[in-house]
Amino acid sequence: MSGASLNADGRLGMMLTELRLPTMKRLAADLCAQSDREGWAARRLVETLLEQEMAEREVRRFERHRAISCLSPDKRLSTFDFSAVPTISRANVTALTQGHEWLDRGANILAFGAPGVGKSHLLSAIGHALIDAGRRVLFTRCSDLVQRLQAARRDLRLPQELAKLDRFDLLILDDISYVRRDQAETSVLFELIAERYERKSIAITANTPFSQWGDVFDDTAMTVAAIDRLVHRATILEMNVESYRRRAAQATSAKRSKPPA
Ligand code: ADP
Ligand code: MG
Repeated sequence: MSGASLNADGRLGMMLTELRLPTMKRLAADLCAQSDREGWAARRLVETLLEQEMAEREVRRFERHRAISCLSPDKRLSTFDFSAVPTISRANVTALTQGHEWLDRGANILAFGAPGVGKSHLLSAIGHALIDAGRRVLFTRCSDLVQRLQAARRDLRLPQELAKLDRFDLLILDDISYVRRDQAETSVLFELIAERYERKSIAITANTPFSQWGDVFDDTAMTVAAIDRLVHRATILEMNVESYRRRAAQATSAKRSKPPA
């Protein structure tokens, strides 16, 4: 069979379209020709074609997971400067992303620090690395998710909405401290935490220490219960450094104001 006859209009091409095997369709002509030329055993040709299809399917799956995750594409471990945050060890962060069985236990991550210290960047970076490892991650502002869950509760579909979030191994809730104390809001957040407890992981960034979370969960009993569930088996990342943004701005202005040599 000539190479050209295998292209989109050929019988093989049509069958591969019908079976939704786009990679095999793209490569079939070349690989068949190579196989003829080099006298491959039939099995090798079939295996090579299937291998390519599977590899590309995996790449497409990871791309889909990354698109759905809402992670900023540039907040990666490769762009995170660990030397700026001496309280965080690169080895510990690497351990979280390489050995990710903590996700199977529903363990959590809590990142604390003032605005600008790199909490969102670091958790996004962990999220990307977990997607690379084949896990499912969703990054969302905590207040956005709370609103979505509130709307779901109004429509009497909170359980379904919570169930939808189950497909994510890790939910990254950015800026819990900005959620405000309207009772309806905070109790959906509590329900989310209670629902995922010991089953599915949550990562949270917070500008304020636990002692001020009474502002998030109006009622003291609920605050205590939420914190208790979150910290159980959690990794706590304390990022008590000066704002990276402020330091970067200072470095730039220092450079600018330096008199020419
Ligand atoms: P936070 O969430 O703690 O308020 P961000 O993660 O948003 O802080 O960081 C503020 C900005 O500074 C972002 O653009 C982020 O990419 C950058 N940044 C913060 N810390 C680091 C770091 N250690 N290395 C590289 N960039 C950083
Ligand atoms: Mg942030």
